[in-house]
Amino acid sequence: MKIAVLAGDGIGSEIIREAVRVLQALDLPGLELIPADVGGMAYKKHGHPLPAETLQIARAADGILFGAVGDPDCDNLERHLRPEQAILGLRKELGLFANLRPAKVFKGLEDASALRPEVAGAIDLLIVRELNGDVYFGEKGIRTLPDGRRQGWDMMSYAEDEVRRIAHVAFKAAMGRKKKLCSVDKANVLETFQLWRDVVSEVAADYPEVELTHMYVDNAAMQLVRNPGQFDVIVTGNMFGDILSDQASMCVGSIGMLASASLSEGKLGLYEPIHGSAPDIAGKGLANPMATVLSAAMLLRHSLGLEEQAARIEAAVARALADGIRGADLGGTLGTVAIGDAIVERL
Ligand code: NAD
Repeated sequence: MKIAVLAGDGIGSEIIREAVRVLQALDLPGLELIPADVGGMAYKKHGHPLPAETLQIARAADGILFGAVGDPDCDNLERHLRPEQAILGLRKELGLFANLRPAKVFKGLEDASALRPEVAGAIDLLIVRELNGDVYFGEKGIRTLPDGRRQGWDMMSYAEDEVRRIAHVAFKAAMGRKKKLCSVDKANVLETFQLWRDVVSEVAADYPEVELTHMYVDNAAMQLVRNPGQFDVIVTGNMFGDILSDQASMCVGSIGMLASASLSEGKLGLYEPIHGSAPDIAGKGLANPMATVLSAAMLLRHSLGLEEQAARIEAAVARALADGIRGADLGGTLGTVAIGDAIVERL
């Protein structure tokens, strides 16, 4: 069981250290943790944010535990050398096409949400976002029309196999949860999403136990704040998923709590907190490591098939929160290491 550990920049090394301690506390036989450089620190050492050696280590691993990339020193580099390009490179090179973002309100954190506590308390959903297609990857440009006006254009498309494979990921995820899947599209206006709806409906035949519904994206955005408790699994395209997953994250409170997984067709996946490198608090020992610890739990579940150990980590985080363990992002006073200690103790 090989895990590539890519801490990256800013708070990356601080939060990853705690997640690694949690993994080590499980004492899993055969677990090998292999560190590698990524992001701005990799650029400074090797001249590239995703060095060939790092890519090789990532490719050979069963799962990748990722901290964060982003370094203000690198903001003026050519685009392909900026730290954030490492994430795009890993997604592309490793075929990471499915982004899973669970959003759940832990007991005691209902007040951290932007929503009323009784609405927020009901949130326990998973957004499955397609990551390799849609309007983000189509042909694009800015051209001048014959009358001299400039026009920006981006081509939106999905091929049926791209929709089918993300639909299978979502249906399988729903089978492991409450067996409810909501596919979010804009089939009333966009042909791309009419095909999306048709293909998701076809795939549903393979999962008769899952209750499938369809929702237009504008309604979904509204329902996510009106009654988020109605959702179990949501599947959607790259752009709608980009927006809805950020919206869902604010519904559950602090950015320091949310984990994510990016999966390939095999068992390899990349697991990371949804936040960035937080240069404003880097090196101060203030970052909340819980999102990274929860990302490590997702790694055990999805890439190593260790459901029981993943659930143990999640329970330890929930117990710590219930006991009042809070970082500054949640209005508390505890630092990164103290939060890590609290989780390890409860494991
Ligand atoms: P950010 O997520 O790094 O920080 C936003 C705010 O949230 C900051 O005030 C920060 O202190 C706080 N915060 C973030 N994580 C926290 C944690 N674990 N505990 C407590 N507080 C936390 O976003 P940003 O400031 O917009 O971006 C900083 C850098 O990170 C940029 O270079 C950006 O490109 C990069 N970034 C990287 C990723 C990634 O690695 N996947 C994602 C987003 C942003």
